[in-house]
Amino acid sequence: MGFFSYNCKGCDHPMLSEHATNGINSWMNEVIVLDKAKGVIAKGGYDGYGRIPQVEGDDLYRVTYDEKTGDCLEACWHEACWEKAGKPGYDGSSKSAYDQGYFFDEGAHDVVDPTKYCDCNMPADHIYEDGTVACEECHKWGDHRPTAFYERSLN
Ligand SMILES: [Zn+2]
Ligand SMILES: [Zn+2]
Repeated sequence: MGFFSYNCKGCDHPMLSEHATNGINSWMNEVIVLDKAKGVIAKGGYDGYGRIPQVEGDDLYRVTYDEKTGDCLEACWHEACWEKAGKPGYDGSSKSAYDQGYFFDEGAHDVVDPTKYCDCNMPADHIYEDGTVACEECHKWGDHRPTAFYERSLN
């Protein structure tokens, strides 16, 4: 199939193609790629094959494979992680994803969007079927009622 991916500089989870996401980690499809010299060079949905829409122009940008390291030359981020980190400049290249961003166990990348916060202002750990989120404590003691599906995926 030829899927491959690189890990986000912020969270170490891979860029995920749309087909590899679920309701919890769909945000891992929206990525930012920084070139060492040019800065942000690509932004948008990851296609599963190293390609992301270019910032300028209609073509897809192809992340550069580094034969020496087996990683890539660019810094890849999930857009949410990049924003949360304060939109940093290029700070070193991203590592190749061992699971190719595709062949992973169910739940392996079930992490809530880091830009989402609970009503109490704590970072969210849980997401419910209707898209609302809660932190660990509110999830435990509040009246949030997760569905069986998300209960299973997040445990
Ligand atoms: Zn990330
Ligand atoms: Zn909370």
